[in-house]
Amino acid sequence: MIPEGVKLEAKRRAHYQCVICRQTKFLHVHHILPQEAGGPATLDNAAPLCVECHDLYGGDPTKRKWCARRVTFGGRTARARSRTATTALLQKFDALQTTWQRAGARWRSSRS
Ligand SMILES: [Zn+2]
Repeated sequence: MIPEGVKLEAKRRAHYQCVICRQTKFLHVHHILPQEAGGPATLDNAAPLCVECHDLYGGDPTKRKWCARRVTFGGRTARARSRTATTALLQKFDALQTTWQRAGARWRSSRS
């Protein structure tokens, strides 16, 4: 069994959507690697799936891998997006600093 806290966090992380079809109804938190195969009851091994995808996904190891990839991919894109935002901000700051330095240099040369 997956602890309630882990289930909640898994759903929150997936924005309360099925990781395969993105629908938000009847979500079940499912083991990516089944318990029988030694899958731990941790967040990394928990994926929210709707009833339909849960049935489709079943015990198929190929789909299991695909499902795990969907989960990781979701996390990766979220991180990549925030990194891009930071980079854009730093670039703006750099440009601003260059403008200030140029303005300062102009001011100094006009005085000498
Ligand atoms: Zn689904």
